[in-house]
Amino acid sequence: MKYHKIPDEAVRRLPFYLRGLLTLSEQGHKNVSSHDLAALLGFNHWQIRKDFSYFGSFGTPGTGYNIEKLIRQIRKILKLSIVRKAALVGVGNLGLAVLRYPGFRIYGFEIAAAFDNNPKKIGRRVGNITIEDVSNLQALQQRKIEIGIITVPCEAAQETFNKLIAAGIKGILSFSPCYKTGRKKVKVITIDIAMDLARLPYYITTRRITRV
Ligand code: NAD
Repeated sequence: MKYHKIPDEAVRRLPFYLRGLLTLSEQGHKNVSSHDLAALLGFNHWQIRKDFSYFGSFGTPGTGYNIEKLIRQIRKILKLSIVRKAALVGVGNLGLAVLRYPGFRIYGFEIAAAFDNNPKKIGRRVGNITIEDVSNLQALQQRKIEIGIITVPCEAAQETFNKLIAAGIKGILSFSPCYKTGRKKVKVITIDIAMDLARLPYYITTRRITRV
């Protein structure tokens, strides 16, 4: 089955489904209905049914969806079946928190390298990672590192972005909005807590409490 027709909005929801399904699996459940998954995740059940139908999962009346099968399918669609290595640049407040977070592994991500330009930080160890000098940020491809994570201050974001591209990175997760991608063939996802906070009052006041 080809999965390339799944709309971006549905792809955006897949990791949430995966997290819910992994939780249910850990609790020993074998099947789940769209209603129960919706209640767990705060989504609409019709939305879940529609999203699953994109990849040919329709569930069985009375039994629901087979959890392990769905987990396998979603992992396959998101290409999470193999471990992907990431390099983080900027080991400050946020970078350190990201570096120490143990929850990426379950999705197949491993932060394999960390860089900074502060001489006091270079050489320090965080878990099993030794912080490297950012001036040595090159040839990440040879280290099989495909993903870059940007946690530097705004003024250093563009330079970091360019360095990661030059080092052969395929995808970037940036916590800073201060960069321009140009026409580079690299997927960039920007996380901006301030932007998410800014839309929260709308949902609070209009009482639309389903997940968006
Ligand atoms: P910080 O100052 O604590 O850490 C920044 C780190 O980057 C420091 O260790 C510094 O030495 C390093 N650095 C600076 N210039 C560098 C360069 N050229 N190359 C490599 N390393 C360099 O900052 P922070 O509080 O961790 O915030 C980091 C970034 O994340 C900022 O851009 C901030 O605006 C952003 N941020 C975003 C969100 C969000 O929701 N998107 C939330 C919090 C922070």
